[in-house]
Amino acid sequence: GDGVGPEIITAARRVADAALSVAGVRGIRWIEMAGYGYDNGLGVTEAHLEAFGEVGVLLKGPLSIPAGTSGSVIEARGQAFTSANQALRQLFGLYANVRPARSYALPWPTRFGDVAVDLLIVRENTEDLYCGAPEVWVDKDTCQATKRISRGASARIAEYACALALQRQAERGAPSLVTAVHKANVCKQSDGLFLEEARKAASAAGLRYEEALVDSLCAGLVLQPQAYDVLVAPNCWGDIVSDLAGGVVGSLGLLGSANVGASHALFEAAHGSAPDIAGCGVANPASMMLSAAMLMRHVGEAPAADAVETAIAAALAEGCATVDLGGAASTGDFTDAVIAEIEQST
Ligand code: ATP
Ligand code: MG
Repeated sequence: GDGVGPEIITAARRVADAALSVAGVRGIRWIEMAGYGYDNGLGVTEAHLEAFGEVGVLLKGPLSIPAGTSGSVIEARGQAFTSANQALRQLFGLYANVRPARSYALPWPTRFGDVAVDLLIVRENTEDLYCGAPEVWVDKDTCQATKRISRGASARIAEYACALALQRQAERGAPSLVTAVHKANVCKQSDGLFLEEARKAASAAGLRYEEALVDSLCAGLVLQPQAYDVLVAPNCWGDIVSDLAGGVVGSLGLLGSANVGASHALFEAAHGSAPDIAGCGVANPASMMLSAAMLMRHVGEAPAADAVETAIAAALAEGCATVDLGGAASTGDFTDAVIAEIEQST
């Protein structure tokens, strides 16, 4: 990654090594890939693509996406993409973007006091406004973008979200609620199609289900985040709503994220490269650590994943927190505290 990527990846890797070692997992081999900025136009090389192809899981730092003026596309494997992130998602069919957003107790007052926020955002990752279709200049002063919603991709993400909701329901012994996020009053056909599939999936799974317009949902999430549980959204709404959820729980630095496909999975912080604080040693590495925990759970190392999640909560509860959360800990201080918690837990 670039920006804060190298700092938070180093932190996450130290924590993952500690947790795997405590959980008795030996012989972990990391294949390191450097972030390339945009020197080669993509930020991801053919060697990176091959290694990910073979290994199947990737812990990735954020790669910044320069805001385009017009026509900025890059090539990989003979296809055009708008960014390395989009290339990885498309080339490896990473159709589900899973972003848990939960609040943590700190020794000082937090946004929601005692209210525990615990959301699971499941964002469709391959189409919608980010489908990669070239933006078209209708005339020299008018540019038109494509919002593509397909039945297949909608059904696939809705079924995936419902499977996660059923899992949560079983773990908690309390009914899950699936909220489908849409704007079908305006995007009648496209978001209408998404809703049709969401409804079908929720009904087949026997889950509690509701639909929310993305605009009013944003207000609802700020006013009453505890009213929501699992949110399933088309790509664009899911993107915006997950950053909103980061704000609701106090920082984008608390959101891990998984990009999952049928055969490959990529784990990365839900935030961007935070160029404004890069290199300062103050970035909150929790998002990257939580992403590493999701990776470990994905490959069947649930005890190590649990250890990381518990240790992060414990370090924060003791007041070891980075600046974004109102604390004074550096990235390294917080990492040391999390590792100490992991080692104490044995
Ligand atoms: P990009 O173009 O890579 O998305 P960005 O400018 O949008 O970069 P983000 O990473 O999305 O930046 O961050 C938005 C804001 O949130 C920035 O002010 C950033 O400093 C802050 N932020 C993001 N991640 C973290 C983190 N891990 N720790 C602390 N602050 C963060
Ligand atoms: Mg950003």
